[in-house]
Amino acid sequence: MLKSCHEVHRLVAESYDRQLPWLTRFRVRLHLAACDACTNFKRNMNLLREAMRRIDR
Ligand SMILES: [Zn+2]
Repeated sequence: MLKSCHEVHRLVAESYDRQLPWLTRFRVRLHLAACDACTNFKRNMNLLREAMRRIDR
């Protein structure tokens, strides 16, 4: 299992820049299913990426 929310945050951020191994993605998903803090983090990341893409254009 993943060690900490900190690691999940790092992996979520990383997953936007490169494809993670399937096992890593699976573990992140498992963690997200059980952890509200990381679910919120991921949602905020999505919003941020979306906002940045709009600014870029
Ligand atoms: Zn977490």
